[in-house]
Amino acid sequence: MGNLDQKVVVVTGGAKGIGKQIALTFAREGANIVIADIIEMEETARAVGELGRMTITVTTDVSKREEVKNLIDTTINNFGKIDVLVNNAGTTRGAAGLLKVSEEDWDIVLGVNLKGVFLCIQAAAKHMVERKSGKIINISSVSGLSTYMRNEMHNYSYAILKAGIIMLTKFCARELGRHGINVNAIAPGLVSTDMLYVRRTPEQVKEFIENTSKQVPLGRIGATQDVANLALFLASDDSSYITGQVISVDGGGLSETDLICVDAFFFAEETPMSIVRAYKEYQSVVVGLNGGSNDRI
Ligand code: NAD
Repeated sequence: MGNLDQKVVVVTGGAKGIGKQIALTFAREGANIVIADIIEMEETARAVGELGRMTITVTTDVSKREEVKNLIDTTINNFGKIDVLVNNAGTTRGAAGLLKVSEEDWDIVLGVNLKGVFLCIQAAAKHMVERKSGKIINISSVSGLSTYMRNEMHNYSYAILKAGIIMLTKFCARELGRHGINVNAIAPGLVSTDMLYVRRTPEQVKEFIENTSKQVPLGRIGATQDVANLALFLASDDSSYITGQVISVDGGGLSETDLICVDAFFFAEETPMSIVRAYKEYQSVVVGLNGGSNDRI
């Protein structure tokens, strides 16, 4: 018997990458899977079927309310319930600093990634509330947790929307908790998927992965299975008393932000001299002693 026996799970962006891995991991644990995506989903569906689970595919652009409604209606018509919703669908646009990010990119990135999560939660939660049970898992990113290592080349809209998903998660957890629904977010670090290859040559990707791996305490970038394993825990009864949380799966990559989070600009007159000295010596201070420039949630 698996951890998710007979559960019905909707995975958005389930055609490939992290979403596909989540679909297969959940299916191995006994779940029936509804795959939603804007691209061909047959490969994931076939793999889920080979695991002996039931699956349907529903072409869905998560940024469009009518298509999300169709996704949820189709799920209910086929399976009669939704136990777990995994909001994984995501897209990026080219990196651009604050002064250069285009309005069009901003709208697309926030529309798919943030509004899409909102629409899916709103549609699915109505059914979960009726049954007084459900698990919602939102895929955020460490990009939404910190400005650490961000520069003018970073995609601002992506980081901001991922931060938005975290606050959406917390508010939904608060509102839906009394209806027996858990809402949590996962913040992956760098994970090896097609998303890394967009707008990079294979050589650039290789160099990028090598350089990034050196900065990760566990010495490697993430695999899709790393994220799927946490998603499985959050979907299972083992996490029944966990809600409103954002959990990083980043090999410890964010840990440096525990120390490096402010610059001298933030020191006020009342800042204890010991902290100022620590900053001058190590160029770092500890979060919580920084007059509100808390860079970590
Ligand atoms: P991916 O590109 O392999 O998969 C994304 C999936 O989302 C694709 O199947 C794509 O078709 C689908 N999608 C895109 N727009 C959609 C829309 N409008 N409606 C429905 N589906 C849509 O990327 P991935 O790395 O597997 O990304 C999955 C999630 O993980 C995303 O939310 C991404 O932001 C997040 N994430 C990824 C990384 C990483 O390093 N790969 C890190 C942190 C967070």
